[in-house]
Amino acid sequence: MDLNRYLRDVPDFPKPGILFKDITPLLASPPAMTHVIERFAAIDWGRVDKVAAIESRGFLFGAPLAMKLGKGFVPIRKPGKLPWKTNRVEYVLEYGTDAVEIHQDAIARGERVVVVDDLLATGGTMAAAAQLVESCGGQVAGCAFVIDLAFLGGRKRLGSHRVEALLRFE
Ligand code: AMP
Repeated sequence: MDLNRYLRDVPDFPKPGILFKDITPLLASPPAMTHVIERFAAIDWGRVDKVAAIESRGFLFGAPLAMKLGKGFVPIRKPGKLPWKTNRVEYVLEYGTDAVEIHQDAIARGERVVVVDDLLATGGTMAAAAQLVESCGGQVAGCAFVIDLAFLGGRKRLGSHRVEALLRFE
């Protein structure tokens, strides 16, 4: 299946100069969604104990992958959204900073976690998410993306973490 057919390029969204990869056609197609989740599930991640995903588009792929693998799902969210005790990691954006949080009890020490997001750009968001997993004592089994904007060099920012992407744009 050619997943490219299920992406829509939207120029200058959300601001001038950004070519936004709109995944709503993919979400609207049960066969395309099934294909994505089956491909993520077919990757040999080694032992997997949890699947974590990053708010909000990461949830759309992370939760079905967790169900498919028969593992628990862990949400990684923007600050102030999670109700229980949290760990927080701040990261630098082009202008300013952002942060993500995880529940302190979401991952047990030594658990291996696949972390999911829709798209890898500069890698800042996923690097922060991986740090959060590690802050709970978990190990990152790998980082799964539907799309890798490879020309932005996100893989480099993720260091030694394993990165798997279904579509790559050079
Ligand atoms: P980054 O931290 O730079 O890797 O940015 C990744 C996050 O920003 C992901 O959660 C994406 O959903 C979002 N994102 C960044 N660039 C784009 C883009 N061109 N199209 C769609 N989403 C994007």
